Amino acid sequence: MSGPIPTAARPMARRSPAGVACLGEPAARLLSGPRTPESLAAHVTRLGAVQPFTESETLLTRLERSGLTGRGGGHFPLWRKVVAARQAGGTPIVVVNVTEGEPASAKDRVLATLRPHLVIDGAVTVAAACGADTIIIAVHSGAAVGAALVRAQAERASAGWSAGLATRVAAVPDRYISGESSALASVLEGGPARPVSRGRPTAEEGINGRPTVVSNAETLAHVALIARRDDEWFRAAGAPDGPGSCLVTLAGDVDCPGNVVELLRPVPAAVLADWACGPDRPWQAVLLGGYTGTWLNREQTGTTILRPGRPPDGQPGIGCGIVAVLDQDRCGLAEAARLLSWLSEERAGQCGACAYGMPLLAAQMEALAGGRSRWRKTSRRVASLAESMSGRGLCSLPDGAVAMAESALEAFAEEAGLHRHRRCRAPTPPGSLPLPDRPGPS
Ligand code: SF4
Repeated sequence: MSGPIPTAARPMARRSPAGVACLGEPAARLLSGPRTPESLAAHVTRLGAVQPFTESETLLTRLERSGLTGRGGGHFPLWRKVVAARQAGGTPIVVVNVTEGEPASAKDRVLATLRPHLVIDGAVTVAAACGADTIIIAVHSGAAVGAALVRAQAERASAGWSAGLATRVAAVPDRYISGESSALASVLEGGPARPVSRGRPTAEEGINGRPTVVSNAETLAHVALIARRDDEWFRAAGAPDGPGSCLVTLAGDVDCPGNVVELLRPVPAAVLADWACGPDRPWQAVLLGGYTGTWLNREQTGTTILRPGRPPDGQPGIGCGIVAVLDQDRCGLAEAARLLSWLSEERAGQCGACAYGMPLLAAQMEALAGGRSRWRKTSRRVASLAESMSGRGLCSLPDGAVAMAESALEAFAEEAGLHRHRRCRAPTPPGSLPLPDRPGPS
C-alpha cells in the first residue's frame, strides 16, 4: 500500500517518558509496527488473522471482561452498544467514526491512515458480533484519510476479504458536531449534520431506523487486538478502573503539534507536557480533552493523572485524547475566549440553551479577557449560565463549553486579576490551538 505518511506521526527526537510509546516503538500496541501505512499482507504477517470465537467465549464476553470503553470521549462500553443493536430488531449497521470534529485531534486519522486494516478488522469483528450486513466508514470531506481507507478497502476486496459485508467510505461535512453519533446517523441517511432525537439510542435506532453501532477508529482497533489476544492482555495496560492503552494527540505550543503517542500507563499531565515541549519551551497550562475539556494551570497538571476511561469523580479526564499545551507567553483567558467564540459559531442552534447560552458564554469570557469585566462578576454570570444551560441541549456541547469556561476561570484566576488593571502579561497573541476556517452555523 502506498500513500502519504501523516505529519502527525513524525517521530520525536527525545526518548519518551515511562508509560508513553511513540509510533513504531516495540512497547506500543496500536502504534507498533512500521512508520508507514501498512498493507494487508504486511498487517496479516505481523499480527495474524482474527480467529473465530467459540460458543463458550464470544466476542461479547471477551469485550465485557476487557473493560474496553469508547475512546471518543464518552467512555461508553462498546459491548453494551453491540448487545443493544442485536436486541433492537432489524439488521444493524456498523459505522466507523473517523470524523474527529475536534480540530486539535489527529489520532483517529493517523491510526486509520497507518493501520487501516487494524481498524477495519475491528469493524468486521463487531459486525459479526451484532449481525450487521453493512459497514460505513465516515470521514470528513476532503480528508486524506478517506483515500487511504478506500485503498485499503479495495485491497481487501481483491484479496476476497469482504466477509460478505457491504463496506463503503462516506464523506460527511467537516463540522464540530457532525461526528456525534446521532448526527452521523442523520447525515449518513441524507439528513442534516446535527444531533437528532429519535427517542432511542442510535445503537437501537439509527440510519434509516436500523440499529447502528457507531464507534471511533481507535476503539475498533482495540477490538481487533482484543480479538487476536485476550482480555487479560488488554487489561495489562492502563489502570484497573481504566484498562487498556489509549492514543493521545499532542497539540498547541508543543515541539510537534499533531503528533500522536500511545499512553500505556497512567502518567501525570505535567510529565507529558514537559516531554512534548522539551527543555527550551516554557509552558504554563494544559487544555485536557479537547475544546470542551478542562484547563489546568501548571500546578494542577502535577496532580492530574492521564489514563484511559472515565476519570474518578472530580478529576479531569483525557476525554477524546487531546493534550494541548499553552506557552508561557500566551494568555489563557484570551485563548479560552477564542475557543468559546468558535464553539458558539459551530453550534447547530436547534436547542434554546445552546442557541442563546453559547454566545452569552463566549461574550462573558471575551469581556474578562479584554479587561471589561472582573473575575468575580464573570464567575457569577458563568455560574448562572451553567444553571440555565445544564443538561438542556440535545448533545453535550453546551455542558462541555460551560465546564471549559469554568475551568479557565479557575486555572487563570491570577491572570484575571491582571486583566482587571488591563495588564495582560502575554506578549504573544492567542492562536496556539488550531481552528478550522469554516462558514458560520448551518
Ligand atoms: S446542544 Fe447545541 S450543538 Fe447540541 S444539538 Fe442542541 S443546538 Fe446542536
